[in-house]
Amino acid sequence: MASVNIIVGSHVWVEDPKLAWKDGEVIKIHGQDVHVKTSDGKVVVAKIAKVFPKDTEAPPGGVDDMTKLSYLHEPGVLQNLATRYELNEIYTYTGNILIAVNPFQRLPHLYDTHMMEQYKGAAFGELSPHVFAVADVAYRAMINEGKSNSILVSGESGAGKTETTKMLMRYLAHLGGRSGVEGRTVEQQVLESNPVLEAFGNAKTVRNNNSSRFGKFVEIQFDKSGRISGAAIRTYLLERSRVCQISNPERNYHCFYLLCAAPAEEVERYKLGNPKSFHYLNQSKYYELDGVNDAEEYLATRRAMDIVGISEEEQDAIFRVVAAILHLGNVEFAKGEEIDSSVIKDEQSRFHLNMTAELLKCDAKSLEDALITRVMVTPEEVITRTLDPEAALGSRDALAKTIYSRLFDWIVEKINISIGQDPNSKSIIGVLDIYGFESFKTNSFEQFCINFTNEKLQQHFNQHVFKMEQEEYEKEEINWSYIEFVDNQDVLDLIEKKPGGIISLLDEACMFPKSTHETFAQKLYQTFTKNKRFIKPKLSRTSFTISHYAGEVTYQADLFLDKNKDYVVAEHQVLLTASKCTFVAGLFPPLPEESSKSSKFSSIGSRFKLQLQSLMETLSSTEPHYIRCVKPNNSLKPCIFENLNVIQQLRCGGVLEAIRISCAGYPTRRTFYEFLLRFGVLAPEVLAGSYDDKVACQMILDKKGLKGYQMGKTKVFLRAGQMAELDARRAEV
Ligand code: ATP
Ligand code: MG
Repeated sequence: MASVNIIVGSHVWVEDPKLAWKDGEVIKIHGQDVHVKTSDGKVVVAKIAKVFPKDTEAPPGGVDDMTKLSYLHEPGVLQNLATRYELNEIYTYTGNILIAVNPFQRLPHLYDTHMMEQYKGAAFGELSPHVFAVADVAYRAMINEGKSNSILVSGESGAGKTETTKMLMRYLAHLGGRSGVEGRTVEQQVLESNPVLEAFGNAKTVRNNNSSRFGKFVEIQFDKSGRISGAAIRTYLLERSRVCQISNPERNYHCFYLLCAAPAEEVERYKLGNPKSFHYLNQSKYYELDGVNDAEEYLATRRAMDIVGISEEEQDAIFRVVAAILHLGNVEFAKGEEIDSSVIKDEQSRFHLNMTAELLKCDAKSLEDALITRVMVTPEEVITRTLDPEAALGSRDALAKTIYSRLFDWIVEKINISIGQDPNSKSIIGVLDIYGFESFKTNSFEQFCINFTNEKLQQHFNQHVFKMEQEEYEKEEINWSYIEFVDNQDVLDLIEKKPGGIISLLDEACMFPKSTHETFAQKLYQTFTKNKRFIKPKLSRTSFTISHYAGEVTYQADLFLDKNKDYVVAEHQVLLTASKCTFVAGLFPPLPEESSKSSKFSSIGSRFKLQLQSLMETLSSTEPHYIRCVKPNNSLKPCIFENLNVIQQLRCGGVLEAIRISCAGYPTRRTFYEFLLRFGVLAPEVLAGSYDDKVACQMILDKKGLKGYQMGKTKVFLRAGQMAELDARRAEV
């Protein structure tokens, strides 16, 4: 993309290790080497291919759509975002994609009712870029064309996906709500599902004080008149390990702290108190969140639960279970008299054990047995085996995780039942808020699943923005120079191909009793020696690297087998099914006969793969809209825009490629018939004549003096902005 027009005196951008790009003036060109005097007075020598022209006439406030940049390249895009960010213009279009840079400060005027009213029905691109504009387009498209739409919000942790999703939902509720109706309307329930899910599924992490630890797809259903008539929430892979294990400066799920801050009477009833006294919370010394009052949040969560239709009794049961988990975490074990056995450690532990049993309404002795023994069923006999203290701790934590994840699923299902599905709904708007690409120092099964998700979404994005565009242009035989893009089908094959992909091999390993993480890793090495997307790290015997679309990630296979196995220990199942509390027993419905005998293996990876498949099918049947959230800094502070950080995210999200496509292509297209239906009013005389549709379209376009559009075989292809221009003319008629 580097310009050939670079001469001495040109204003240019050159690469810089700290700022990503720096501007300057060319002072000398020597073969391929360009000498640039940068604006801070240094002289830099760079290859001509890496020097880009700078638009000296760019508007001082930037442009609201990247496709309007006169020079389209990485430094131009970055500069534009940075300039706008400084002016608190956090939204910028790239054709149809909205880029949202997290302001890390409340901008209330940006989202008030007045603002919503302004965007209502406004033509896309007419007002400043905004999430409301995207929601409005989706809503109009749904109403006008009767088609389902989806809005895919992506970005790394802390980039603002969940906040963006909430704004979208608020706007859709505003459009599709019943004005003047008080109380529990469907749209209110949809909105209030957010605080409930956040209380149980969000936590403070290093990257975000309110990080969603699950993925979410909200399907909002509309009736014929465009009113919200139902909704369905699907959630994906709640992070279970957090329930038992946290480290500085993170926290456990919000609900635990909220409950500890509940009114005194409740805290007394559940024998709670300071969060510092609970093992599941005191592994990290972070208890409070800046600017958040847990006591108020507790009451707010209760109110939101009222609205989404969780009864007071159910709420009490939910918090009783939350309290039980805290007490369970404080049960410790000591070595028993026999080898490899354990006993409840002391009076303190005994107290917590009894409290847990009381809160779960199950028998304390049975709970104790379920924690420190395992029953082995062989064809010949039933053997009771004791667990050593370490294994007993494992058993305790497994129980806590199982109960919590069942509780979470129950809440989601309850919300779904209470909001209700509209069986007659013709169209939906789906909103996806799912974890972005992750690459940490150590990456485990969770990162593997998360990055798998992102590969899937990336393919969907690729297919939509790239493949579909190109195929369409080809089909319509219009001129189009191909733009290269990175296809990621090969990574998806590596991960999910059946048989032979990583998930399949993992399932095989899980079913084979002698497997270890080492044999699993060896199997991967053997199978994928020639795979370009798979790398065996030199010095490791148990880790493997996948070359993802967004970069290489090395995974530690150590816990893959354990984490892929989803089974409830039979003793735990029996214990809780027998609970005298119908709520708790309901979380553990009895298993069908044959599967209850052994702890049958079910694969989390494979189930997740199916969930993703179904999500992708849903998404494919909708018209997608994309919002890319960007996190401008890692300090989570306003007004700091770190270039390198942002560039990395734009690359990972495919934003830069999409920009190239949008600009080069024809973002708007209509069949000749559709076009005439809409714009025939601009030239009644043409409609009156008996022209062929294609000819008629051409005549209208020529009459209005449009340039650069293309006529395909069945459709008119318009350049960015031309549709708006025609619409404006139509309004004049
Ligand atoms: P995760 O993947 O960890 O769930 P996320 O992308 O969902 O991250 P959010 O929780 O939406 O991130 O945003 C993180 C924080 O950034 C919010 O708690 C809020 O403080 C701030 N923030 C995000 N978007 C906005 C916005 N539009 N206006 C003001 N603040 C925002
Ligand atoms: Mg989130």
